[in-house]
Amino acid sequence: DVRVRFCPSPTGNPHVGLVRTALFNWAFARHHKGTLVFRIEDTDAARDSEESYQQLLDSLRWLGLDWDEGPEVGGPHGPYRQSQRMDLYRDAARRLQEAGHAYECFCTTAELDERREAARAAGRPSGYDGHCRDLSAEQIEAYRREGREPIVRFRMPDHPITFTDLVRGELTFTPENVPDYGIVRANGAPLYTLVNPIDDALMEITHVLRGEDLLSSTPRQIALYAALAEIGVGNGTTPHFGHLPYVMGEGNKKLSKRDPQASLNLYRERGFLPQGLLNYLSLLGWSLAADRDIFTLDEMVAAFDIDDVNPNPARFDLKKCEHINAEHLRLLDVAAFIDACEPWLRAPFAPWRPEAFDRAKFEAIAPHAQTRLTVLSDITANVDFLFLDEPVDDEASWAKAMKEGSDALLRTARAKLADAEWNAEELKSAVLAAGEEHGLKLGKAQAPVRVAVTGRTVGLPLFESLEILGRDRTLARIDAALA
Ligand code: GLU
Repeated sequence: DVRVRFCPSPTGNPHVGLVRTALFNWAFARHHKGTLVFRIEDTDAARDSEESYQQLLDSLRWLGLDWDEGPEVGGPHGPYRQSQRMDLYRDAARRLQEAGHAYECFCTTAELDERREAARAAGRPSGYDGHCRDLSAEQIEAYRREGREPIVRFRMPDHPITFTDLVRGELTFTPENVPDYGIVRANGAPLYTLVNPIDDALMEITHVLRGEDLLSSTPRQIALYAALAEIGVGNGTTPHFGHLPYVMGEGNKKLSKRDPQASLNLYRERGFLPQGLLNYLSLLGWSLAADRDIFTLDEMVAAFDIDDVNPNPARFDLKKCEHINAEHLRLLDVAAFIDACEPWLRAPFAPWRPEAFDRAKFEAIAPHAQTRLTVLSDITANVDFLFLDEPVDDEASWAKAMKEGSDALLRTARAKLADAEWNAEELKSAVLAAGEEHGLKLGKAQAPVRVAVTGRTVGLPLFESLEILGRDRTLARIDAALA
């Protein structure tokens, strides 16, 4: 049975790198009809926050990435917040020491730094040098009397560690490159290096899919699983590992969580569809087929194979992300599109009086908006002419559309529109005829009409817009523009 986990630390706002990891784990679990465990790695009280924890839950819900075990759904391996599992980690750390797999290290940071510098200068490996590996009882006593407070270090085996990465193939790490490492802080707080493998073992995780930035911890964790099995933690099997490629941002630098483009909230606020965003994020290291950029989550689940993940860095491209989202907007039923627009049509996003909103008018214009929008938040600017008492007042648009002779054109157009039957086709003929009288093609003739009625130089198809706005309001706005 496939069991995977998504185990973020609740620090800061969720970012797209995190979502990509969640998505790949989710798709892998669903493809194999396995289990997705959602675990919260909140052992760092100084950095973790309840707000960030709530945001993680809320973000996964918004994205539609459901989990089978974890916060709020429970499961047989709970609790799923590491802050509630501290006794278990302390106990394991103690037993690792008793079994000789870990030891107290009394080196101070200054001493470690000094020896690291010396090793570097001599061209030797600069990781931890094993200084406290085999201290005698007397030495330990002496250090204690000095008032030193030890950390706990895991004793790495003296042989190379080889594993087959599901994305990168066979990898080998030699002991010089993987020195003994800290698993418990001097103040007794267990570290990620310890608690993450303990929980993977206890939660019977079979596959670990995570970012390439964690590749260097994998040989350490593999060694730790073996030691944990000896002290009776877990069933002795090591999970398979697959490291997802780096995501590069602007200037070919790694996308940082602090990069504004990385913030998941930005995509929610701009009105991306979860399925559009997830479709794009799936392409950061994976593809359904060379000629298919647009697909549903169901299609992704059916096709997802970790063997197809590309180890090369993926480039985050906001334009492409927007394009894919736009395509997903087109794929919605009109009714679903209308529902998706709803939040933007109401306060606090909508700039009009709430009672001015007219659902029937919105339903009439929605199909025209659906083929043009990139993100849902753009809906307000596209339809505000229907619900505002006065069109938006934007001097720049006005200056751009109103040329010499525009007044005369508007007067003619007003007269012809007033006589026209009120449907898009007739309204177009009216403006076309008005343009002809003034020697203007349709494009030039409709510009002043558009700005007079909508306040903007660009927007949804004009004549459909006028039809939906209605005769009285259209003519009144042209009159106001001429006054
Ligand atoms: N809590 C770790 C992180 O957010 C989990 C890493 C892992 O998947 O092992 O980086």
